[in-house]
Amino acid sequence: MAKAKEQPKKPAGQKPSIPQLPPGMRPVRMWSFRFDMKKLLIWLLVIFLFVPAIFSWIGSSTSGMTETLTQAMEDIRAGKVKSVDVSGDNLILDYGNNNLKFSTKETGQSFTQLLTQYKIDPSSVTFTVQNGSFMDKLGNVLNILSFLLMAFFFVMIFRQMRQGQNGGGMFGMGRSKAKLFAKGKQDVRFADVAGVDEAKQELEEVVDFLKHPAKYHKVGARTPKGVLLVGPAGVGKTLMARAVAGEAGVPFFSMAGSEFMEMLVGVGASRVRDLFDTAKKAAPAIIFIDEIDAIGRTRGAGAMGGHDERDQTLNQILVEMDGFAPNDSVIVLAATNRPDVLDQALVRPGRFDRRVTLDMPDIEGRKKTLAIHAKGKPFAKNINWEDVAKRTVGFTGADLENMLNEAAILIAREGRDEITFDDIEEAATKVKMGPSKKRIQSENDRRMTAYHEAGHAIATHFLSHTDPVHRISIISRGRALGFTMIPPAVDKYQSTRVELLEEICTLLGGRAAEKLIYNDLTAGASSDIDRLTRLARAMVIDYGMSPLGPIDFGPQEGMSEWGRTYLEQTDVSDSKRAEIDREVKRIVNACEKTTMDILTKKRKVMDRVVAALMEKESLEREEFEKIVGVSKADVIKKNEFVVEYS
Ligand code: ADP
Ligand code: ZN
Ligand code: MG
Repeated sequence: MAKAKEQPKKPAGQKPSIPQLPPGMRPVRMWSFRFDMKKLLIWLLVIFLFVPAIFSWIGSSTSGMTETLTQAMEDIRAGKVKSVDVSGDNLILDYGNNNLKFSTKETGQSFTQLLTQYKIDPSSVTFTVQNGSFMDKLGNVLNILSFLLMAFFFVMIFRQMRQGQNGGGMFGMGRSKAKLFAKGKQDVRFADVAGVDEAKQELEEVVDFLKHPAKYHKVGARTPKGVLLVGPAGVGKTLMARAVAGEAGVPFFSMAGSEFMEMLVGVGASRVRDLFDTAKKAAPAIIFIDEIDAIGRTRGAGAMGGHDERDQTLNQILVEMDGFAPNDSVIVLAATNRPDVLDQALVRPGRFDRRVTLDMPDIEGRKKTLAIHAKGKPFAKNINWEDVAKRTVGFTGADLENMLNEAAILIAREGRDEITFDDIEEAATKVKMGPSKKRIQSENDRRMTAYHEAGHAIATHFLSHTDPVHRISIISRGRALGFTMIPPAVDKYQSTRVELLEEICTLLGGRAAEKLIYNDLTAGASSDIDRLTRLARAMVIDYGMSPLGPIDFGPQEGMSEWGRTYLEQTDVSDSKRAEIDREVKRIVNACEKTTMDILTKKRKVMDRVVAALMEKESLEREEFEKIVGVSKADVIKKNEFVVEYS
């Protein structure tokens, strides 16, 4: 488990699978009994359009037997018509022998007048008159009905437009959809967020300001306006923002960056305006914009060449923040995991000028996070949480929470009532690798996967600056057909050149094994290749570990806290790019040579590992080392294989 340096082997062209719930668990569906305005309006519209259409269809279905008025009059004069039924303006002409024909007369003219006009003696015709047919009456009712519907429709539209800030719906576009957590309703506290003590300290100040704004105003202190919470996904940024509101006991308006965006240009900006207005009225208050990078990206830098809607929304945020009066007592918190792409204007003084960083939790942080989320779950007494924390290097708070939850689901499914260490281990694998799947694979495919994974494991085992293999498996999980887990044994903040080179060897191991055994390659190594190429590139560009030395990459604006994106750099000359590419290739070649060397010399060991994998599907560290026959410590002492790159 842990900072999984696992090497997933992807099946070629397989689509990402939809996460599956364990059997017996059904997704919760929320039936809303709310009065859904949009749907109602649509239904009314349908009725409004279709009912008249249906009636006019009924009316016209008799059209096959209609006659012009002139023809009808001629027939009457000629005595062909036995009798006439006058019903409103409709004439039903009876020709005898059940032969009926229809015609219509002008409105406002009586049938007698009509006969006189055609110079026919009314007494020569038998006719009955009914005033207003069923159809006519229906038509009148329908007219009134559609008028009522129209009126109702308009009333609804106006009501929608006037509706309050949680309006939404078809006509509430410009309203912010902010979720409001009223004063005191936010029940998260700092104590619920573990392992980010520096961040807490910095935010204490914000809390104090919100609690006692007068204290600061009295001495004329400029108070913070915007605080940016920065950190990788899942470390608890959103949780932290809620905790600040909870500690301060002020209303908390929360909205995600993407929620400002709608199809219509200008909607985002008006939502911002609405959000800030509402918050100011409720001051002291907190506005929280989650995932602000969705709107806060450098303006006019979209891949599609500018993005009007986003620019307008961002501008509106800047305008609102500049427009704060000194005693508004509204603090804007925002969270992002991509501070590097944010527009410079956002981080200027007076805007998001404070930055609070939340890091990946270290072992102490993980222990505290585990303690928080273990509450209320039935764990076996003998679980060593220190050990769990140690083995979960690279897990974020969200991963840990997820892991414990998975472990609980596991025992619930099997009807047990205690969570054991093994359950946690299984849950950790599931969190990092996805749920295990039974795929029907041919013996040959399984063997190929086994060689691929064994290749990773053997390569890493026989190098001296790598971590021990934790587990190898050819049980497919998520998109991976198999995996090898090599978690860092300790929290590490530095990697040396040798370590990086050997990591590349490890990543190459799967592909090298395929090449050696089958003299062929599968598409499964694509993510390995992706990662090792990025590593090699970082060695050359970011860490200056190649003979090219430190490379000047021009202005530092494209820097992120988690590495630089090579493609974002545009001011590098072509010849320098070519040099970099050549160096990357040399690194990979050197590593490949060493990897091939290891696998060729340890071929017998690899075959044994594969045989065991074919039989057991998964090997734990102890089993693996027993099969290999040499302990990691001995390998390190012997230092048999070295990557030759200089
Ligand atoms: P982020 O916003 O940084 O992506 P979240 O705040 O949404 O992360 O975290 C998701 C969940 O993970 C939280 O609701 C919480 O249960 C858990 N979690 C994350 N970080 C921590 C932490 N530092 N302490 C306790 N729980 C955490
Ligand atoms: Zn692999
Ligand atoms: Mg979040």
